[in-house]
Amino acid sequence: MKNRLYQSLFLGITSAIAASASYALITPQNEKQAKTENLATTIAAIPSIYDTTSDFIEQAIRLEQLANLEAPIKPRTIHHEIQEDESLASILSLYGVDKKTLRKITEANKIGARFTHLNPQTILTIELDKNYQLKSLIYDADNVNTLVASRNEEQFDVHVESRSLDAQEILTQGTIETNLAVDGKKAGLSVEIIDQLTDKIFAWDIDFSQDLNAGDKFTVIYEETLVEGRRLKTGNILAAEFIIGGKSYSAIRYQNSQGEVTYYSPQGKNVVRETRKSFLRSPIAYARVSSHFNLHRRHPISHRIRAHKGVDYAARNGTPIQATGGGKIIFKGRQSGYGRVVIIEHDSQYKSLYAHLSRFNNRYKVGSLIKQGETLGFVGQSGAATGPHLHYEFLVNGAHKNPVTVKLPQTEIQENKGLLARFQQKSRPYIERLNRANSETAIINVDKFFAKKSDKL
Ligand SMILES: [Zn+2]
Repeated sequence: MKNRLYQSLFLGITSAIAASASYALITPQNEKQAKTENLATTIAAIPSIYDTTSDFIEQAIRLEQLANLEAPIKPRTIHHEIQEDESLASILSLYGVDKKTLRKITEANKIGARFTHLNPQTILTIELDKNYQLKSLIYDADNVNTLVASRNEEQFDVHVESRSLDAQEILTQGTIETNLAVDGKKAGLSVEIIDQLTDKIFAWDIDFSQDLNAGDKFTVIYEETLVEGRRLKTGNILAAEFIIGGKSYSAIRYQNSQGEVTYYSPQGKNVVRETRKSFLRSPIAYARVSSHFNLHRRHPISHRIRAHKGVDYAARNGTPIQATGGGKIIFKGRQSGYGRVVIIEHDSQYKSLYAHLSRFNNRYKVGSLIKQGETLGFVGQSGAATGPHLHYEFLVNGAHKNPVTVKLPQTEIQENKGLLARFQQKSRPYIERLNRANSETAIINVDKFFAKKSDKL
């Protein structure tokens, strides 16, 4: 479509020139003048949008050369979209700017040199004066910085202009239909925000592979950085809430008296795993439990009654497995039925075991320390397994416990009355906003309900 437009413009100019050339009564001098006027009129009549194409300008330049026009051309601004194989030199040569002029910019200073690193699919703005001389060069190097080179007699002033950044707080709400990854994205949350929710803030309290059901709700208040009103990136989560089966889990970002920034429940309980130094509920974020902990299970391969001393998580081959708690790797290798196994000793009381791995994370050896949440290996089906899955065991004082229901140790949070009062004062505005958001959606839902009812009437 675009190409056809340019083509017809090109033809338009050609025919305009051809028409004046075929006018028999005009002298060669007059003819030249007529050509110039025709071309100038044609160019002037072209909406500015067409001025953005290098094709058009290039063709116009060729036409002017063909017509041997010496008359001055109107000054113009070209917004050139940089192509994969183009360089600053090749682009400028399209508009008749020579290498000498180019060097005056690129060698002017450090900023000038940055003009040689152009990204494809971005726009380079070229301004030509009425004598076809380069007047200025403008390039948005990134979301914040614009490189500007402007002619100052025979030289160029080269500098960078930075736009102002603004931060704002956004409240986003959504309802679970599929899972948080899908519905969070639908609600407008970035992947980074969703990861913070699942891997950091609620990793302890919510098992995202099992606990969320359709109809559960989430509300997130987070920072967003804007450049002149446009969204640049999302920042920290300031407060968040999940309502799961009517039960509320909320967390507010807060810098504690030790200077540590973490998340607390409205009651002042630290909810973040790294700062709680205990265990994640499951080693894989979105996996489905394919076989539960059962001390009287019939084994799927041997068909004998054999205790299933752990939980199986069905997951694709290669899915990363997280250490559910920090500790020391005390075993990494093969065990007959279990295939590739990693065992972590967390302290004298707790151990966790991960089996059927396709491969290990080779960063860790026996004796290595691993942090909570770090990848120890990847899901596979080594050993006796009917399909790719993780077999996960949790041992307390040497006895196998159901990792889904075992009471996990909780690190006591300082509940100094003074600190708590200060925290509650700081967190109150966020809790109020979360509550208000929930009551507002409740009203919307009631409206919807009545709307549906009245539709039927
Ligand atoms: Zn198993």
